[in-house]
Amino acid sequence: MLSTAQNPRNAAVLSERLRALQEAIASTAMQCGRSVDQVTLLAVSKGQSVDRLREAAGLGLVQFGENYLAEALPKIAALKDLPLQWHFIGRLQSNKTAAVAANFAWVHSVDRLKIAERLSAQRDPDAPDLNLCIQVKLLPDEEKAGVDPEACLPLIRAVAGLERIKLRGLMCMLPLGTPLATQRHAFAQLRELSHQAQGQGFALDTLSMGMSDDWPQAVAEGSTILRVGGALFGPRATPGITR
Ligand SMILES: *Cc1c(COP(=O)(O)O)cnc(C)c1O
Repeated sequence: MLSTAQNPRNAAVLSERLRALQEAIASTAMQCGRSVDQVTLLAVSKGQSVDRLREAAGLGLVQFGENYLAEALPKIAALKDLPLQWHFIGRLQSNKTAAVAANFAWVHSVDRLKIAERLSAQRDPDAPDLNLCIQVKLLPDEEKAGVDPEACLPLIRAVAGLERIKLRGLMCMLPLGTPLATQRHAFAQLRELSHQAQGQGFALDTLSMGMSDDWPQAVAEGSTILRVGGALFGPRATPGITR
């Protein structure tokens, strides 16, 4: 059997999925009165092979998101020859912050000051500042990731003062199967939190919201980064890795 990279049919499928997705994003953005330039597609590549990522990069994708450090580090090393930007989007434990600070351009999933402080202390002063989003928990979910909305502004205030960190905005991840109207409401709530912070002088420019199943509602509510895995790469290859 041919590997994914050698199989021209698989490569054509990825190319076609990307084209269709980009077209759908552009048309949704236009319907919402937004410019497509305001919306970045982050390719969520957990469970995808290095060959697959190389294919995706060959199609022009530059921003890649990974959830698991042990999986991400070898992939980042293997693709060092390409000008890719790596985003850490998974749960982040204290003992992993040094490697994340050293290997990623963005972290989307900060929900505690302690994690942000460690990333700040561990970021190489010669590297560009680490772009950071605070994950907010808008709906009850099993994973319990994210800061409660009430605690969001105090956390923003604390993180914004850290060296070598550039606080970019807010992130959320809705549970699978959230009804459309609830999705829309939750995304609007994240946008509102961001506006409140902007009103207090914090220069936030990023709303990291929207995944394969809910990105149109996120675009309608002002998302600037769509984190899309399945709708781009198809079902994940690695068993046991879901979302
Ligand atoms: C896996 C994951 C995604 C992408 O999910 P899809 O449903 O495959 O698009 C986005 N964000 C986070 C935080 C994830 O863990």
